Amino acid sequence: MSPHHRPATEKQLAALVKARTALVKKHTCERCGEEDPSCGLDKQSDWRIYNVQREGEIIHRYCISCRLYFRWIDSRQKIEQQLHTLFAEQIPFYLLDTETTGKLESRTCQIVEIAIIDQDAQVVYQSLCKPDITMPASASEVNGLTDEVLADAPTFTQIWPEVVKILTANEPPLYAWNAEFDRQALLKTATRFGLMVPEMLQWPEEVKQKSRWHCAMKMHARWYGEWSNGKDNYRWQSLGWACSDLEIEGSNWHRAIGDAQQTLRVLQAIADRNGGYPPPDEMPSHQYYYGE
Ligand SMILES: [Zn+2]
Repeated sequence: MSPHHRPATEKQLAALVKARTALVKKHTCERCGEEDPSCGLDKQSDWRIYNVQREGEIIHRYCISCRLYFRWIDSRQKIEQQLHTLFAEQIPFYLLDTETTGKLESRTCQIVEIAIIDQDAQVVYQSLCKPDITMPASASEVNGLTDEVLADAPTFTQIWPEVVKILTANEPPLYAWNAEFDRQALLKTATRFGLMVPEMLQWPEEVKQKSRWHCAMKMHARWYGEWSNGKDNYRWQSLGWACSDLEIEGSNWHRAIGDAQQTLRVLQAIADRNGGYPPPDEMPSHQYYYGE
């Protein structure tokens, strides 16, 4: 002991305890009690404590898992409410699905089937269309649409006026599983067949506009809640997985009408949920966090 050392006074000790408690509180998750052993010094730490602020004031301190959990519950609630309103208020909308010859990145990618249903699952439009290329085997394997099946189908040029008419009349919001795929597939196919020329056909600006489209897949991803660190967003799930998770029986998979109806059922199932949120350890991203 240093000769100059004097024992701390009671007041000093009390201040020390108070400071230490404040420090621990600052670096402890208020939900699960997990502490950051580095006390905030290691910013990359898995145990880092995040401040949730409102109007400049810290209202919560959470570890990353708990922060993601509460963010998920929040988005889950929002999606459920949004979809509940959509069905409860009987807001008219269309749900669209397309089948194609392959991936959008492929130069020859084009639509071979299109289906549009309304909010009551009534079929508004459905047609196959004959591609100007041989059906790639990889695509036929997925959707069962072969050259033989498509042989007597009308061309995209023939079906386009009717599709345009439906999509532009009343301008209802469009929903689709992976909406960006269907939007791009429509644009790409119309371009391929020279239908983007205004004097030939009125190109529906509404279809071009992203704001008109609502992606059921992204809504489901936010509701389902598997967080991806790599994407820094919720991971997209397949329609098949969404259906099995929500116990929705399906048939006619990977055909436009079947997928459109399945998508509608997923949206309905989410709309019918009302709270009853799973505990944090059942959040899908937890598996991801500890697994990868
Ligand atoms: Zn926590």
